[in-house]
Amino acid sequence: MKSVLIHCCCAHCTAYTANYWRQQGYEVSALWYNPNIHPYTEHQQRLEAMKSLAQEMNLPLTVTNGYDMITYFRQVVGHESQRCRYCFRLRLSKTAETARQMDFSAFTTTLLISPHQKHDLIKEIGNQLAEETGIAFLYADPRKHYSESRHLTKPLNLYRQQYCGCLYSELERYTNIVIE
Ligand code: SF4
Repeated sequence: MKSVLIHCCCAHCTAYTANYWRQQGYEVSALWYNPNIHPYTEHQQRLEAMKSLAQEMNLPLTVTNGYDMITYFRQVVGHESQRCRYCFRLRLSKTAETARQMDFSAFTTTLLISPHQKHDLIKEIGNQLAEETGIAFLYADPRKHYSESRHLTKPLNLYRQQYCGCLYSELERYTNIVIE
């Protein structure tokens, strides 16, 4: 059976995405690797929500060791206006590499369902990594199902984040400051 490792940014984007790839005939597993979520306590709250969803959906979940916040900042500092490119690449390259090590036929990401993310950039980086690693990148555009995914998680009463993840996004969410 064909299999896919899905990088999961949060429980709420995972619900529809995991169902979607199951419906396409894939054996689906989830990977948690989000060193872009700050601070640590916020990261843990989102991870706990993800664990609850995985249990509910009977979805195998791999959680990477440690919390690579320092790696995230070492890559981003100095080019903050381009931070999402570095952030996507960091998370997706870990996913592709883990998929290769664990013998999955493909990898993808829940980030593709979000209308708030730079969709074309995610697609570009996914395709680049597929070429570099030899693991297929599964692309889909489920953005019109974003709300549906949130409806799926509503009865579970899981923690819902208020900003994308990094400290820069938190600042932009609560002020008029734009990081450039
Ligand atoms: S805004 Fe979101 S995607 Fe962009 S760098 Fe921050 S956490 Fe990553």
